[in-house]
Amino acid sequence: MNFLRRFSLQLSSSRQILLAAWFFITFANFSFWQAAFTAIGTDSWHNVLFLATLYLLLITWLNQILSLLLLPWLLKPLLSILLLGAATTAYFMDSYGVVIDREMIRNTLMTDPREAGELLSPKMALYLMLLGVLPMVLVWRSKIHYASFMKEVGYKFLTLVMTLVISGGVAAAYYVDIASFARNNTYIRHMIVPVNYVGAIESYIRSNLAGGKIVVAPLGEDAKKGAKITAAGQKKVLTVIVVGEAARASEFSLNGYARDTNPELSKLDIVNYRNVTSCGTETAVSVPCMFSKFAREDYSDSKAKRSENLLDVLKHAGFDLLWKDNNSSSRGVAVRIGEQNVQDLKVPGLCHDTECYDEILLYQLQDYIDKLANDGVIVLHMKGSHGPAYYLRSPEKFKKFLPECRTNQLQDCPRQELINAYDNTIVYSDYVLSQVIKLLQQNNQRFDTAMLYMADHGESTGEKGIYLHAAPYMIAPDEQTHIGALQWFSPSFLQRMKLDKSCLLRKADEPLSQDNLFHSVLGLLDVKTSAYDTSLDMFASCTAK
Ligand SMILES: [Zn+2]
Repeated sequence: MNFLRRFSLQLSSSRQILLAAWFFITFANFSFWQAAFTAIGTDSWHNVLFLATLYLLLITWLNQILSLLLLPWLLKPLLSILLLGAATTAYFMDSYGVVIDREMIRNTLMTDPREAGELLSPKMALYLMLLGVLPMVLVWRSKIHYASFMKEVGYKFLTLVMTLVISGGVAAAYYVDIASFARNNTYIRHMIVPVNYVGAIESYIRSNLAGGKIVVAPLGEDAKKGAKITAAGQKKVLTVIVVGEAARASEFSLNGYARDTNPELSKLDIVNYRNVTSCGTETAVSVPCMFSKFAREDYSDSKAKRSENLLDVLKHAGFDLLWKDNNSSSRGVAVRIGEQNVQDLKVPGLCHDTECYDEILLYQLQDYIDKLANDGVIVLHMKGSHGPAYYLRSPEKFKKFLPECRTNQLQDCPRQELINAYDNTIVYSDYVLSQVIKLLQQNNQRFDTAMLYMADHGESTGEKGIYLHAAPYMIAPDEQTHIGALQWFSPSFLQRMKLDKSCLLRKADEPLSQDNLFHSVLGLLDVKTSAYDTSLDMFASCTAK
């Protein structure tokens, strides 16, 4: 540390800024350069020169941006913030292959401290030290010379001229390469640190400020229960919607996975859907989207916030609603009906130091059902296969595949151990779902019952070096968008709703998506409302009038 105390660089403000631009592009952009090398290739001199030119161009552009941003009295504090942000961003990109965009920021801000704690690691500390703290100390130790106001303005003007000249020269020499590189790799712009995370934060703030106070438009206020529900002398109807977490379809033995990950559900009389896709690749998008009336192409976070959703329509129709959450929250979906978060309960056997296993969702649920005098819809939001610490999600006796990866540093585990840990979460979720069905069966005297399960999105477990989820939808691998989905109905429920199960089974391979959930639940529960669209109701063609 003596070296640091003695270190004192004397340099002009424009040199300091250029040095910072060089540092970011060279040291904080490992993921970007890896992607660029793969996309461009080094198989010809032309490509190698193009990569070198790209390097020069990025330093030039970043230097330009920083020279406009880092004004004299702001230089040191702003640069420090940029360095710390860049170190954190680089760590997550390099470790998990994630892309930083607005949705990622939203997701990060909605992460609860416990999930964040799970992401901390010695490697992260090293990134923060080498890319953040150390250069920050050097910045603060260096003496920056500022010229007179007019001269500083002059330097900034010269910088701009230099940027334009270099950009013009590069464009003249490599126009075709740059155009095709940018067109074929649109996601790559989300990979340049620190531009990516600053841009993402700005875009997030703008999308949140837009429109000011949020007015929620009512939806389906005309909703009424149809004759199948209201007919006299019948039992009440109880439906459980289970929202899964990061459960990809390909790891379900029900979908043909070679390992037996669905030992319980495969014994039960379920309808399993093999071809269902998610609306987003992360919880903060998928969960509000699946309960909203909007289809994926039409969906946005701000639209969802400005409209009531499936739960509100069910409430208008007169159902009793309960949202039980063992994940971080309902992501705003249950905001008007209220939600019960159970992840902080300390029930022996169901919870460990930091969280509860998903069986906690069933804890005291029978008491609730006993008191339920109306038709009800219960939503259970699972912790499911939430990464990166998969091993925390399954209790010992469900660890069928060993050894399993027992760290959050996924890339440090042999891939098979990571897959083992992930598959154990599927085995445990299989058990939890079978217990939900058992609970419903036990209540058949008072209720006609059904369970609908759908995961929020899938998960990457190291395919092509990609981990976790949250890839931009356009380029998201199938593992992140192809989700587990299945249903169970009591025989009396099928009879009452005139639902033909063999018809459902026949159609179980047809493509479906989270777009279908909203209208299918309304159709299934015979809710009459103008908000309902029969063309998106997956049950419509298997239901007799
Ligand atoms: Zn999720």
